[in-house]
Amino acid sequence: MTAIRDLNARGCTASFDHLNESVGRVAETETEVREYLDVLARIDETGIDSNVSIKLTQFGLELDPELAYRNARRIVEDAARRGNFVRVDMEGSSVTQATIDVFKRLRAEFGLNDVGIVIQSYLYRTKDDARELLKIPARIRLCKGAYNESPEVAYPAKQDVDDNYVRVMKLLLASGVYHGIATHDPKMIDATIDFAQREGIGKDAFEFQMLYGIRRDLQDQLARDGYRMRVYVPYGKHWYPYFMRRLAERPANIWFVWKNLWK
Ligand SMILES: Cc1cc2nc3c(=O)[nH]c(=O)nc-3n(C[C@H](O)[C@H](O)[C@H](O)COP(=O)(O)OP(=O)(O)OC[C@H]3O[C@@H](n4cnc5c(N)ncnc54)[C@H](O)[C@@H]3O)c2cc1C
Repeated sequence: MTAIRDLNARGCTASFDHLNESVGRVAETETEVREYLDVLARIDETGIDSNVSIKLTQFGLELDPELAYRNARRIVEDAARRGNFVRVDMEGSSVTQATIDVFKRLRAEFGLNDVGIVIQSYLYRTKDDARELLKIPARIRLCKGAYNESPEVAYPAKQDVDDNYVRVMKLLLASGVYHGIATHDPKMIDATIDFAQREGIGKDAFEFQMLYGIRRDLQDQLARDGYRMRVYVPYGKHWYPYFMRRLAERPANIWFVWKNLWK
């Protein structure tokens, strides 16, 4: 709450993420639902500017997709009632289709501004997914992708991931729907700004998104330049898999953590 209040004071909105994934017990999925219902209530009480991000494996997707759907539905229903928004994060490729299927069911019941999804530019399938999701239409967060995927499903070369990011970003921005461009990569950000300016797309027609604590300078600069900036704020006890993904995408972080442990 305090971190998000500070972000709001810096001109950024936020997204709560209660860290947990691949939950293997039904009772634990219930605890996760309660946590999110509590967070949505706290957002209302405190008046902070934040939505929530959820992971479907946190609600039992790998146990039973029906259970994950029912759990996610409770959160989306509560958020919709409160005029808030739920983003369904995208996880590893073994659950991409199941995540999209659950999202489509939610989106059939709730509005464009109640629930959205994430796609990852490292997957070969993403451009087709973007086209399909835009037909609904759906609000989409575009990211590069954070899981260790095989060359059978994902571009192994960074340049291809980046090229695909730019291609899909253009599809999204041209759709007229409000999307999230999630990246810390200045090249992706410049490409987005260039495209929006060339096509006459307003600064308020989309938002940039970054992770809490990463490229704070860039977050502040974009907010100062009049762009919408949302910061993803993870919290909770189950931090290890999230932390390992952050280390994997930037090995320099291992040195950063080690150095700070000794300070
Ligand atoms: C708001 C948000 C939500 C996300 N949601 C998902 C999701 O649902 N599913 C999913 O698979 N992935 C998600 N991701 C992660 C994403 O897929 C990438 O793994 C991550 O953002 C790194 O890619 P990048 O676009 O920043 O570019 P990169 O090319 O990886 O990085 C560009 C530059 O950004 C900086 N940077 C990047 N990562 C770090 C880091 N960990 N620490 C310090 N500096 C860093 C460095 O300066 C680096 O040179 C999300 C990312 C964001 C910002």
